[in-house]
Amino acid sequence: MAPLTSDDTSGEGAGRLKAARTLVVKIGSALLVDAGTGALRDAWLKTLAADVAAIRARGTDVVIVSSGSIALGRRALKLPRGALTLEQSQAAAAVGQIRLARAYEEALAPHGVISAQVLLTLDDTQNRRRYLNARATLQELLANGATPVVNENDTVATDEIRYGDNDRLGARVAQIADADVLVLLSDVDGLYDKNPRDFEGASHIGVVREISAEIEAMAGGTGTEGAKGGMVTKLMAAKTAMRGGCAMAITKGAVDHPLAALENGALATWFLPKEDAARAKKQWIAGMKPMGAFIVDAGAARALGQGKSLLPAGVKRVVGSFERGDPVAIESEEGAALGAALASYSAVEARVIAGRRSGEIEELLGYPGRAAMAHRDDMVLWGGA
Ligand code: GLU
Repeated sequence: MAPLTSDDTSGEGAGRLKAARTLVVKIGSALLVDAGTGALRDAWLKTLAADVAAIRARGTDVVIVSSGSIALGRRALKLPRGALTLEQSQAAAAVGQIRLARAYEEALAPHGVISAQVLLTLDDTQNRRRYLNARATLQELLANGATPVVNENDTVATDEIRYGDNDRLGARVAQIADADVLVLLSDVDGLYDKNPRDFEGASHIGVVREISAEIEAMAGGTGTEGAKGGMVTKLMAAKTAMRGGCAMAITKGAVDHPLAALENGALATWFLPKEDAARAKKQWIAGMKPMGAFIVDAGAARALGQGKSLLPAGVKRVVGSFERGDPVAIESEEGAALGAALASYSAVEARVIAGRRSGEIEELLGYPGRAAMAHRDDMVLWGGA
């Protein structure tokens, strides 16, 4: 068996970060807000913003998932130390979130980076329709060059319907954004074989390729509240990320320029899935049972082969009954199976716009829609492309 305690001496994790197409960075409250004074650590935030700008400048999309609203709001409202009631944390979040968003805006704007606030609830990521909406919004923001700054909508979230921790929210956002790397900037530098607070000789784990029972045991066993500084929720996040082919790092974020440090080999635990994100998604699409089909003309078939999205103009016929986001087959007029995709429109809408130009969509449907019937990122072609 491969030794579990080997560190990432190969630099594989850092390499994935450098090559990422889409990066999600989760920032914990402890990094943003000084534990003693409750003040925003804005000098540190500036260094993070510089890292984000540098990563974006080389063509990587970046999504930030940031905690800190409750910590900032409780200071502003002068709430007592110790545990807050649900109502108190909701009020604190309402006050703190506006400050948090402003802090990102002020840190990113000098680099010419436009920030966008996105507040999600658990339901937004679990309910299919809302999941697709959240996904479309993130895609549109990224396509327009904006950097989403996501947090849970703590002001309306109650205990039964909330994530409560941004580790798992970060992993879901990574999934929604089709990210290939998720970085959890934390107050711990990763996973140890024993709790380093209790055992002096605890060894750091550099790379995890599979979350085995042994690894779970190191995090304190599932269900152990707050074990090793939230390692349980971090492992849950790692599982979600790895399932989508997304690599995940846990590293200490408190240093200046924490992302540059991670790229330069800072101590971290890297969770490295076998599959890459794009492949994992294509396999997932390929493995689903189609609920209908788009019958496309020869021109559209050629365009698909060149890596283009499927436009309504090239769709001759729509078969079956499906909703937006459902899997559909793509077939030629002669009946050849060309591929599979997630439909950008329901079957009812697709029938209305099939054969028409994208510019006519709004008039035909009565509302603006997406330009493609199926986006190339949501498609797999049996020809291999
Ligand atoms: N969403 C919470 C906040 O912004 C933080 C949750 C967490 O720390 O993981 O204050």
